[in-house]
Amino acid sequence: MHSRNTGGWRDLYSDWNSMIRDIVSCRRCRLHATRKNAVPGEGNVNSKIMIVGEAPGRTEDEMGRPFVGAAGNLLTKILRGFGVDRGDVYITNVVKCRPPNNREPMNDETETCSIYLLSQLLLIKPKIVIALGNHAGRWFADRFNLQWPGISRIRGRVLEGRIMDLELTVVPTYHPAAALRKPQILKYIESDIGKAIELSKRKDSGKDHAEGRKTLLDFIAGSSPSDKS
Ligand code: SF4
Repeated sequence: MHSRNTGGWRDLYSDWNSMIRDIVSCRRCRLHATRKNAVPGEGNVNSKIMIVGEAPGRTEDEMGRPFVGAAGNLLTKILRGFGVDRGDVYITNVVKCRPPNNREPMNDETETCSIYLLSQLLLIKPKIVIALGNHAGRWFADRFNLQWPGISRIRGRVLEGRIMDLELTVVPTYHPAAALRKPQILKYIESDIGKAIELSKRKDSGKDHAEGRKTLLDFIAGSSPSDKS
């Protein structure tokens, strides 16, 4: 399997269980040396919605589960506010092992680990992806060959692109951890996640049209506090 949009990976997984087994024992990049547990992801593999963050944090590393710390609790609460249980969706991260001291993943770590997220996307085939934070949003923009103006300028917009034969719709927003530091951005995250959930319902009922789709030039008019969230 070779495609520019997959970053050139030839060994994507077609079997879910072998992929999960390989993630938990993976030593492809330096992050294996400092992790306690790799965090493949969890949730409904038949879900229309996939939520993708940056990388596991301390609690996630200890438990081997995604979004189970304070930011995860906030995400769970936001989803519940829209009538969605976190078990209804599939939740994962771009990078499956915790970077030391919660630093940002390095480019080579992200690229090496991308085989797993690409495989998860191609196996789950979500209708909507909610990308949480700058790193996750940029990962999708890179796959779609789009420029990335930063999360504060692009959050809440609808990105559409293709990875191999999979057409994807991605709504980027701030990472919930950012709302723990800056409560004023919580309303943006709630609004963006609500928009993504509504979009997934419209797609399911066949009411999906071009409404709301933008080019990157439209995104430059976006707003809000920080590109590091
Ligand atoms: S971060 Fe990804 S590539 Fe690196 S060791 Fe963990 S699972 Fe493997």
